[in-house]
Amino acid sequence: FELERLGVHESVEAVFPPSELADYLTDLPATVDVIGDDEIAARDAVVTLEYHPDCLECAWVHSIQSGVDRFPFDEFESNGVVLTNSTGIHGRSVGETVAGYLLSFSRRLHDLVANQTERRWERPAWDDGFTLPGKTACVVGTGTLGRGVAETLGGLGLEVRGVRRSDESVPGFDEIYTDDRLLEAIEGVEFVIVTVPLTEETHHRFDGEVFETMRDDAYFVNVARGPVVDEPALIDALESDSIAGAALDVFEEEPLPEESPLWGMDEVIVTPHCAAYTRDYFRDVGDIVRENVSRLGTGEAFHNRVV
Ligand code: NAD
Repeated sequence: FELERLGVHESVEAVFPPSELADYLTDLPATVDVIGDDEIAARDAVVTLEYHPDCLECAWVHSIQSGVDRFPFDEFESNGVVLTNSTGIHGRSVGETVAGYLLSFSRRLHDLVANQTERRWERPAWDDGFTLPGKTACVVGTGTLGRGVAETLGGLGLEVRGVRRSDESVPGFDEIYTDDRLLEAIEGVEFVIVTVPLTEETHHRFDGEVFETMRDDAYFVNVARGPVVDEPALIDALESDSIAGAALDVFEEEPLPEESPLWGMDEVIVTPHCAAYTRDYFRDVGDIVRENVSRLGTGEAFHNRVV
């Protein structure tokens, strides 16, 4: 197809100002503008966060997220619409966020910040704090996020296990377990970190059995998608002290409802689906879009094509 008009959908506002991306792409051989729902159908291509049915009128849709579970693949396929995603750019940002969670738990920073908001000078209990070297993290999913997490945690002295579908080794991981050995992989580790996409296969993969198998002093971290976790089972595990705590960036329902018990738990860090936020986000997405516009020109296959 000919790319004449590319729209930046206003839904990207949740992550960065749409105009920043439109300005960054002004050198493209196409008109680039910020658009609302009404204008999607009149564009050849759209860069977006949200799915809107009019996306099926375009020739190409680019998701500014890596996870594309909200897009109906079958309909893209049957309408001949290309779907690309933004995997490949979140390794370092999410890796550092996960390192931050682990350092909060080990150095008690979340408690201390909570105390500060109440002007309370209170030290951790003598046996609360610990250090990370020599501890083991099991990272489930060894794609961009998993590798970024492994590299960042490896730098902090943790041993890192990976769980993936094949048993091939991956840079940054000390050990690899295949997916069918998940329970074996998480047994005995201090941190379980989820970085798999949400698919039929991974839906509620982290359930009561998983939390039962984890050490009772282990922490659970989810930076992937809420529905990979059976959230009531996680809440049960936290309430019954069968695990030590959790850091959660994603939830079965977002925003996390005000009445969720997760908000109020001492050893739970709740963040509002922002593990990958960085001021460079629009440039990283823009570079993928620019690369694909160039490939479109030369007839090469799209980078990060999903459908
Ligand atoms: P990616 O495609 O680079 O990596 C995903 C990896 O998971 C791939 O290696 C894939 O083979 C593997 N995988 C798929 N199914 C599996 C299974 N059943 N068992 C084990 N491994 C399996 O994607 P990514 O950029 O690393 O992102 C992963 C997911 O994290 C995204 O789909 C998205 O949902 C989520 N994400 C969240 C944030 C955030 O802000 N919290 C940011 C980026 C991505």
